[in-house]
Amino acid sequence: MTVHDTQNLIESIMESLYKDENFLEEIGADRERYFQSGTEILTTTDKIIKSYIRVSRDNREIERIPAYRVQHNNIAGFYKGGIRFSDQVNESEVENLAILMTLKNALHELPYGGAKGGVVVHPNNYSKRELNMIAKKYVQRFAPDIGPTRDIPAPDMGTNEETMDWMVGEFKTIHPGKNYMGAFTGKSVENGGAQGRREATGRGVYHSYKWLVEDWASQTPDKNDIAEGIHRQQWQLLRDLVDKNIRTEKITVAVQGFGNVGSVAALQAYECEDLDHAITAVSDHQVMLRNKAGLDIPALVEYQTKYRTLPVTEEALQKYGIEAEILQPEDLLTEEVDVMFLAAVEDQITDLNKELVKAKVFVEGANAPIDRAADEYLHNDGRIVIPDILANAGGVMVSYIEWKQDRVTYLYTEEEVLNDMINHMSESCEKVFVSYFKEGLPGIRSTCYVHALKRLFTLLYRHGKLF
Ligand code: GLU
Repeated sequence: MTVHDTQNLIESIMESLYKDENFLEEIGADRERYFQSGTEILTTTDKIIKSYIRVSRDNREIERIPAYRVQHNNIAGFYKGGIRFSDQVNESEVENLAILMTLKNALHELPYGGAKGGVVVHPNNYSKRELNMIAKKYVQRFAPDIGPTRDIPAPDMGTNEETMDWMVGEFKTIHPGKNYMGAFTGKSVENGGAQGRREATGRGVYHSYKWLVEDWASQTPDKNDIAEGIHRQQWQLLRDLVDKNIRTEKITVAVQGFGNVGSVAALQAYECEDLDHAITAVSDHQVMLRNKAGLDIPALVEYQTKYRTLPVTEEALQKYGIEAEILQPEDLLTEEVDVMFLAAVEDQITDLNKELVKAKVFVEGANAPIDRAADEYLHNDGRIVIPDILANAGGVMVSYIEWKQDRVTYLYTEEEVLNDMINHMSESCEKVFVSYFKEGLPGIRSTCYVHALKRLFTLLYRHGKLF
């Protein structure tokens, strides 16, 4: 999804809300003007800041690295979103991700707007000293725009709790005597972070899928409750997965990406007691591993925790007692499986390969892994995509708990944190899927956008911003 795709989708949903006479009927005669100005606000970005970070490399060379912070809007609360360290970072990608944060936070009714940051570095190519310097300089550059009641960054691809600890340390130096803990979330537990934050996104991603299959489809035995057409076809597909388990066959799963999100989602699927899975394929940026009978996920997680990658050689597999074929990472997308978790990077399933993918249910653990053309194609083919802004919000939900915790200096237990996140995710899933399947809304992604945009537009209206 490019920034234009996302803006176009917002525009088309706003058009449908304009035509929905029941939505905010009190606007009356000014409807056209209000919707025009609402659409203009929601499709434009408040602030894009670009700066350069100068790092003195370990070899004494000086490098100048582009860095961004994009604040899309703060209609629903303070700007909020991660900072990504990746050599793929560019301005329009960061802007798109900031818009997705606005929509994600609005969909889940979190009191935040949307933002995103990025630095054009591949973290594996930098030493710890260099990364520490990059993190601190990022804060120096963007400090005036950051703060616990202004814009609250968090980890994203290529950053982690250590990066956030460094950043909060630098922020404290720059703003002595001020409240600084809530300026960053995703910190280590010792430094005011929430228990369970690291696993939160992966657990939430898995829960969005489990909710749909186990808590909803298996409990909805009457097809007359479902809107006709594609909706019924999709419901039937979910029922078929449930029936597979009833026949004691396993639901087959592939997981793209084996980092913070993918490895946790894979382990959740492996350990799930309500649904019986065989995780037949996993991949990272170097390798894909396949075992048609099901991979030993706990052993792979153990390996990944130690070496930060999946095993790439026969010797490494043997040492950990893992049975698997070794293939190329790109082979994963065309695996013949029931369910595919996409937990790597954006633009994995696009117009170019959409006809080659075979899974029936896709869960977007990463942001924007399926582009708009592929999303429409899969939908029209009766398949299911659980969209990023619904599925991967577990991270920012726990960020919210951390931010509250830092304000009241109370430490939530891991159980409290994860129960709160799972309950919150269930509520959001119910809101989206029930309205999609029962009311027959046109697509799952657009249903998410409808809920998010209704909330944002209503706030703009109540705040008197549409005159
Ligand atoms: N980077 C994560 C995301 O894309 C988390 C953001 C946050 O916790 O603010 O949702």
